[in-house]
Amino acid sequence: MRYISTRGLDTDRSFEDVLLNGLARDGGLYLPKTWPRLSADDIRGMSSKSYAEIAGMIIGCFTGGQPEQSQITAMAEDAYKGFTHSDVAPLVALENNVHVCELFHGPTIAFKDYAMQFLSRAFDDALTKTGKRAVILGATSGDTGSAALEAFKGRESVDVFILFPEGRVSPVQQKQMTSVLDAGAHAVAVKGTFDDCQDLVKASFNDARFRDAVNLSAVNSINWARLVPQIVYYFTSAIALGAPDKPVAFSVPTGNFGNVFAGWAALQMGLPIEKLIVASNRNDILTRFFETGQMARDDVAPSLSPSMDIQASSNFERLLFELLERDGDKVRALMQGFSETGRFDVSADVLSRARETFSAFRLDDEGTRAEIARTARETGMVIDPHSAVGLAAARSARAARIVADDVPIISLACAHPAKFPDAVKSATGTHPELPDHMADLMEREERFSVIENNLSDVQAFVTAGMRS
Ligand SMILES: *Cc1c(COP(=O)(O)O)cnc(C)c1O
Repeated sequence: MRYISTRGLDTDRSFEDVLLNGLARDGGLYLPKTWPRLSADDIRGMSSKSYAEIAGMIIGCFTGGQPEQSQITAMAEDAYKGFTHSDVAPLVALENNVHVCELFHGPTIAFKDYAMQFLSRAFDDALTKTGKRAVILGATSGDTGSAALEAFKGRESVDVFILFPEGRVSPVQQKQMTSVLDAGAHAVAVKGTFDDCQDLVKASFNDARFRDAVNLSAVNSINWARLVPQIVYYFTSAIALGAPDKPVAFSVPTGNFGNVFAGWAALQMGLPIEKLIVASNRNDILTRFFETGQMARDDVAPSLSPSMDIQASSNFERLLFELLERDGDKVRALMQGFSETGRFDVSADVLSRARETFSAFRLDDEGTRAEIARTARETGMVIDPHSAVGLAAARSARAARIVADDVPIISLACAHPAKFPDAVKSATGTHPELPDHMADLMEREERFSVIENNLSDVQAFVTAGMRS
């Protein structure tokens, strides 16, 4: 299994290169040279296997033997053993053949744990083998940062620095980051916005001298190795509802287009997915694209589902590459145009091909509150605002007959309601309780640093704080 970049100039990489580098050298994103395919029998055979065994089979399709399947299964067993549900990603039937796949049973109670817990083990394995160390630098609006700090806890070969905007993440999210008191864990409040944090990270990666000096790595969803573990729950949940002998559809709350692209990868591998429903909040750049064929950046407006407050979905480049029949020159031109003008268009032909698989919906804050309230009232299930955006899209797709009544729709529940208590309380009148393993979170000791919104301060902080 070898990897190529979506921009066509970085053409022959191993899984380990892709894992440790994140972004391709030509600015593109890595994808496998060809999609691995599983037969219907292979998929049927998974129905008797555990989550970790299925993870071994699926992730093993992408590593080219390094690491090999048995080792991946062992890493997955270790990664998911602390999850609070024995099914890891359990499925709950709701109504009208709509099912909720709960992806909040990991240590930070959002779906980022499913990939990050595996990724940290794969990282450590690859680095330890070569005797190398790495620095992970990331910006977060909340969920990625806490999942990364938690996952890399105790990994001797990696130091993690997470920049978050001072005073602009929720108290639960902040405490999840700042209460990781590990020697390699650094939560850093920047005097600025989330965009400032992201710009500081990008500028650090573009500084080749700094990047090489500290061996900088990324664990956001531009890293292909982060998407691969997310393919697993598409398989386990579809198999639970009769795949490969029956088709399913998925509804996915979307920001960076990472999670839903993992669903698209599952489809390429042979899972019978009839539709992928893209669910946006008011920051609806993706929904507008699937309606019009034009990608046009807009200002980000804060919403009740902050992990989806994004107006440039970086992972969309991977789908664009596929829609343009893997023409890296075309992707490079479109992405260059997008960074200059904030927009690009695809042809009617390309759009109609995209629509064969994807359909897209949006939900504003008022609709989100109404969906949380309605779901609690009619089904007894309390959902978080991100999951509500997905569930409303699932119901809309059913009502519009985009998905036939006999095809199950699996709606991904991407965070525990207690991670966003204010929105849930305003919708239901009840404050959602944190799960037992986190009940004392707000009393835990915390440690973080505050720094200026300034590149040289960030770099000096990393250099001084990293272990050697
Ligand atoms: C990260 C996140 C999303 C968005 O996922 P993408 O892969 O960026 O599309 C949605 N909901 C929650 C709770 C998240 O943490």
